[in-house]
Amino acid sequence: MRAIMGAILPALLIAGCQQAGRPPVIRYGEDACAHCRMIINEPPYASAVETAEGEIRKYDDFNCMFRDSERSRPRRYWVHDYGKPDRWLDGMKTFYVRADALQTPMGSRTLAVATREEAERKAQQLQGKVYTFEQIRRMFLPKESSTPKYTGGKGLCTNGCLHR
Ligand SMILES: [Zn+2]
Repeated sequence: MRAIMGAILPALLIAGCQQAGRPPVIRYGEDACAHCRMIINEPPYASAVETAEGEIRKYDDFNCMFRDSERSRPRRYWVHDYGKPDRWLDGMKTFYVRADALQTPMGSRTLAVATREEAERKAQQLQGKVYTFEQIRRMFLPKESSTPKYTGGKGLCTNGCLHR
């Protein structure tokens, strides 16, 4: 018991000072995606990372999060549980479903749920496919030749996203 307290107390003190390791707070309709700069509006697809430096970066869709991760080098990923979008999940332990029927802000067509069972169920409903963190991350990492970039104004969406 003493050993456990010894481990927890310093962690609490550090968390109190830096606010590191705490779940991010997204202000819908106000915060902008760190990758595409669109306003974040849809909780089920909103996500965030904590970088190695402790910076919180927020996103409006999964593809933005993974494409940005090349630069941000996250040490933590937060994603929302699709069925309970006020609940954060550890993005690295989450299961993902990608389905053409899903309309997401930047066209990732992806959702996240806590368990593989739930993911299988959603995949069946939506005629989609289940992915682990590593699989979905690799799918959205920028390809050398076609890295989407925010250029401002027109020509913003280069990856079939739904923003106008
Ligand atoms: Zn975005």
